[in-house]
Parts: sequence; C-alpha cells; structure tokens
Amino acid sequence: MLKIISTIGFLVTLVLFLNSDITVEILFVINIFFIITFFYKPISTTRSFQKNNTEISGDRLTKNDLQELFINQLEDIIIILNKFNIITYSNKAAVENFGSNIEGKHIGSEIRIPELLDAIDNNKIDKELKKIDIELKIPVFKFYKISIASIKSDHTLVIIRDFTEMRKSQNMRSDFIANASHELRTPLVSLKGFLETITDSAKDDPKSQKKFLEIMKSEANKMEVLIEDLMLLSRIELQEHIRLKDKVDINEVIENVILLNSKKISEKKLNVNLNIKEKERFVIGDKEKLSAVFLNLLDNAIKYSGNSKSVKIESFENTSGLKNYTSISVIDEGFGIAPEDIHRITERFFRTENAKKLKIEGTGLGLAITKHIINQHRGELKITSKFGKGSEFIVSLPKH
Ligand code: ADP
Repeated sequence: MLKIISTIGFLVTLVLFLNSDITVEILFVINIFFIITFFYKPISTTRSFQKNNTEISGDRLTKNDLQELFINQLEDIIIILNKFNIITYSNKAAVENFGSNIEGKHIGSEIRIPELLDAIDNNKIDKELKKIDIELKIPVFKFYKISIASIKSDHTLVIIRDFTEMRKSQNMRSDFIANASHELRTPLVSLKGFLETITDSAKDDPKSQKKFLEIMKSEANKMEVLIEDLMLLSRIELQEHIRLKDKVDINEVIENVILLNSKKISEKKLNVNLNIKEKERFVIGDKEKLSAVFLNLLDNAIKYSGNSKSVKIESFENTSGLKNYTSISVIDEGFGIAPEDIHRITERFFRTENAKKLKIEGTGLGLAITKHIINQHRGELKITSKFGKGSEFIVSLPKH
C-alpha cells in the first residue's frame, strides 16, 4: 500500500514538475519524500537486498521491475549505500554520470566530493536528512543539490540532482544585472559631478556652465541609448520562441537603413555598395526586427572604419548546409577584430579593447540584440575578421 501511494505521489509530483510553475526546489523535496517512502519498506522487510543486489524485497518487486517503472527514467542520480558506504544500488543516471561499474565500490573512490562524504558520515551519526549544495569548478563547472537520507538496515539513500544549467543561467542573470548597473552608474556619476560643479565652483562662470551642460546632455543621451537597448534586448528575448512568417523585402529594408545612416556615411566619406540579387530578395521574418539587425551591422561598419573606406552589402546563395537560406554579407575595411575576441563580441556588454581605447561610443549590446533577432528568425550569424584589415558579418535567413 505504502509503495502504491509513494509511486502515485511520485508520478503526480513528476507531472507537476513538468507542467507547473511551482518552484523546482519544492517539487524536488516532495519527490525525495516519495522516493524515500518507496525504498523504506523493501529494505525494512527483507534482508535479500543486502545479500542479493538484484532483488529488492520479498513482495516480488525486483530491481528490474523498479527500473522499468520509473527510477531509470529519472534525471536524478540515485545511489544506495550500505553501512560501509559501499554502493549497492545505482540508477541509470548514476551510471551515466559516474560509470557503469560503481556498484560494489566505496562511494569515496567513485565520487570524489569531500563535502558529500562528510555529509554521509554526519547522516550516519544523527540519522537526519542532510541537504547540501555542491559547486565544482574543475574539470567543468557543475552544480549539484544533494540529499542524503537514512533508510532501514543502516542503508543510506543519496539523491543527486544536477542544477548546472539552472545555476549557469542564474550566474548569467546576476552578471548581467551587475554589468547593466555598472554601465548605468558611470554616466550617472558623471552627471552628478557636473551638476555639483555648475551649482558650486562654476556657479558664476556662464562659459564653463555651457560647456558642462553640453557634456551632461551627452551623458544623459548615453543613458537613454543604454536603457533603450536593455529594453529591446529583454523584449526580444521574451519573443525569441515566436515563429515569424511575413514576407520581407530585404533589399528595401537595407536601402532604408542606408538612408537612415546617410549623414554619418557622408561625414566619413564612406563608399557604401548594396547588391541584393533578385532571387535572394525575399526572406521570411519581421521587417522591423530585420531593420534593427542591419541598422546595427551598418552602424558598426561605419563606427569601426576609418575615413574614405568601403562597405559592401551583398547577397549570395547559402551553400554551407543551410538549404533555402539567403545569406547577406556586410563587409567593411575597418579596424577588424582580434581572433581571440571574435567569439565574444555577441556577448552582452562585451567591447573590444580597441573600441574602448579609440573611445568609440557604444553599449556593447548591439550584437547581442542582433544575434537574438537572427535566432528568432531561425537564422545564423557568422563573423570573420582580420585585425587591422576589416570584418565580415554574414546573416543567413530563410528564403520566402
Ligand atoms: P557596440 O555598441 O559597442 O558597438 P556591439 O554589440 O554592436 O556593441 O559590438 C560589440 C563589440 O564588437 C564592439 O564594441 C566592437 O569592439 C566590436 N565590433 C562590432 N562590429 C565591429 C566591426 N564591424 N569592426 C570592428 N569591431 C567590431
């Protein structure tokens, strides 16, 4: 009866876990309760588990039955230890993570996490449920939540849940907040400083006041651009799963983008060439979002190029695996990107040392936004560059 209740309870929590908004931690704890209940009786009613590792109890529920039922479907690693800390049972997830022949071995030799061994020893002393969080940095980043419970006959149940992906995204989120706050604080501090100067030491100096007010205006503009980029990024992230299906004339989109940039293009005496072939002109997507992509790529090509250089924007048939895709290249003869920076330039807030040294203004969010928009189009962004010579950004989009 206990087993039936625990099985039903377990399955209900599993379904809730897959479908509901209840926090993972709460469901994890409930799940542990049902797993403990499930294992409790078989081990208390029979000694056969200790003698014969393949049969769990006297009421005809064998280890194979269990595996077929659900234990092996779990992503959780489940391990049972005897009183000598020898592994007497390991589910499929345990085998996948720690190897196929861990049964019969001491846990310390198979899972080398000192905090885990300490918690198991402590559990053996006070028999109380232990919960520990383990963060491993090497050989690769891992984050585990581990529960250790005493079950009958001096056995110990160890349940390990891998929270690595969730932890990574938590870390990314907090890095993002730290970066965003830092980027917003810098112009704010400068604004406050100039305000103080205007109302204090420069209060009777209209010439300085005018100069400082100009700087304040530019700092306020920087803040505005950053906030707009942050809002755009968060909006686009939320919409990334929505499929786009409009027919978009990419030639028209890029012509408008060039028009919007015409002042900057003529200031730098750049030569911008657009060549989209008729058969590659229509793609599936969202016109506004694709405008944002090419606005950012052209803006970068202008910003990161010297005077009198060329920028080419051309289409070609994608032949590299992506069938029925159109590729559009934005090629500049600008400063280029160092090889070690190429894979990082689509990260939020990443700016190359060169861009910072040359004091070229930017938020470091443009390419992150670009990449998310292209992802939403089920497209691809490829970047190649030669430092000091120029860069090429290839956007591949599904053809209409
Ligand atoms: P930003 O607002 O700084 O331009 P982006 O996300 O658009 O932000 O670009 C990230 C960084 O990538 C830039 O700071 C710059 O260092 C580098 N970068 C982007 N485009 C180019 C380019 N065409 N040529 C050289 N460097 C580029």
